[in-house]
Amino acid sequence: MKKFKFLNLVLIFFLISCGTVPFSGRKQFTMIPASQMISLANDNYAQVLRENELSDNQQYIDQVRRVGDRISSAVEEYFRKEGMEQQLQGYQWEFNVIQSDEMNAWCMPGGKIAFYEGIMPICQDDNGVAVVMAHEIAHAVARHGNERMSQQLSVQLGGMVLSEALEKEEEKTRNLAMAAFGLGAQVGYLLPYSRTHESEADELGLYFMAMANYDPRGAPEFWKRMNSEAGARPPEFLSTHPHPENRIKNMEEHMQKALEYYE
Ligand SMILES: [Zn+2]
Repeated sequence: MKKFKFLNLVLIFFLISCGTVPFSGRKQFTMIPASQMISLANDNYAQVLRENELSDNQQYIDQVRRVGDRISSAVEEYFRKEGMEQQLQGYQWEFNVIQSDEMNAWCMPGGKIAFYEGIMPICQDDNGVAVVMAHEIAHAVARHGNERMSQQLSVQLGGMVLSEALEKEEEKTRNLAMAAFGLGAQVGYLLPYSRTHESEADELGLYFMAMANYDPRGAPEFWKRMNSEAGARPPEFLSTHPHPENRIKNMEEHMQKALEYYE
């Protein structure tokens, strides 16, 4: 037994990889190979699509796909230009709208995205959809899901590597992944994004939407609408995306730079 534990540690040591988040320059340590993250995400995405009714609101569907195509193309072009296309390897973008009053949206590693009907009236138009889309894509391409999943594996499963966790504790591991990707309500286990992840996603989100030629000044406006909509009972989106008071200030600090990407 001891020997296996030791081997595990050695394995973990070699699997830890060090990366840098674009723009913020933050050094990050992730323990899960990107290809494994993406294959886990793809399985979970298929499960969510099976277990939920898809929207038949054609206007919403068109809006989400139109905005999603534009922003994902801009992000890919940016990563290519910066010589970081490796970081998007295995991405196959997909955009769906789920029939639900829930005010929520998320993007899994690998580019699997869902919007819930309930968030669309708060988005109001394509520019509002772009705010949410760019923010969620930023969480994914900045590998926040991998960091959260790595952390949960060590906290809850004693530092098992993913393949071992999937073998020994499959259901628990899949639920941890769901929570790490921002859809905890699906499995009754919310895992809020940290302040670091939130402000990073807000900052990158501004640049990504501006690169796709959406007006980044719409972002603080969206969050103000979201906060006033939430009232006494915050939606899941605000439970997993906390710190509304700081985020608007943070976005305003990066607005000038974001506007340089916007014509
Ligand atoms: Zn977020």
